[in-house]
Amino acid sequence: MDIFTGIYFAVLIVEIIIRVPLNQKRKQQKMSAQRVTGQERILLGLLSLGGFFVPIVYAATNWLEFANYRLPAWTSWLGVLLAAGAVFVFWRGHADLGLNWSPSLEIREKHELITHGIYGVIRHPMYASQWLLVIAQPLLLQNWIAGFIGLLVFIPFYFLRVKAEEQLMTEAFGDQYRAYMEKVGGVLPRF
Ligand code: SAH
Repeated sequence: MDIFTGIYFAVLIVEIIIRVPLNQKRKQQKMSAQRVTGQERILLGLLSLGGFFVPIVYAATNWLEFANYRLPAWTSWLGVLLAAGAVFVFWRGHADLGLNWSPSLEIREKHELITHGIYGVIRHPMYASQWLLVIAQPLLLQNWIAGFIGLLVFIPFYFLRVKAEEQLMTEAFGDQYRAYMEKVGGVLPRF
């Protein structure tokens, strides 16, 4: 395994370490609304296929070798920089959202609308972090399949999820969320 493939998996491990304790605590919460549709399950499954299972096949076997390419070192280091940014934004998102975080679309009984910290800069830091990671993926995993499958599965997930999430948040928080949307950008800050 080359160093950049190693860094890609290190990022996944750090993200698991950030998420696992929060996921444990979250399970003790009572939910008041849940939107876990079949479509959502399929999209989440495809995300782990593109972000984890295909990269594992690339790293652990030679089955995808025919689709390898070589990039100059500086582009791979750019990938490392993007991945580091992804981890930072992911960590801040989890720290600021706390127990209001959930892997699928849910509103808990004591749900709070978070607009401080990184949520004062962008509304979707976790999705912004995922954008950074799927853009870094083809720079770190130099393979037409393992590199680009992340982007391929994330793009439909992103558009469907954001639409459904903003709808759910507007139902739950009404004008408060609408005002927040006007003020704060989605995955890019507004200047
Ligand atoms: N889109 C956000 C959160 C992803 S986690 C991000 O990219 O960081 C998804 C859950 O977060 C949803 O169930 C939704 O209820 C909740 N959520 C999203 N934005 C929120 C906010 N500003 N305050 C509180 N909860 C929020």
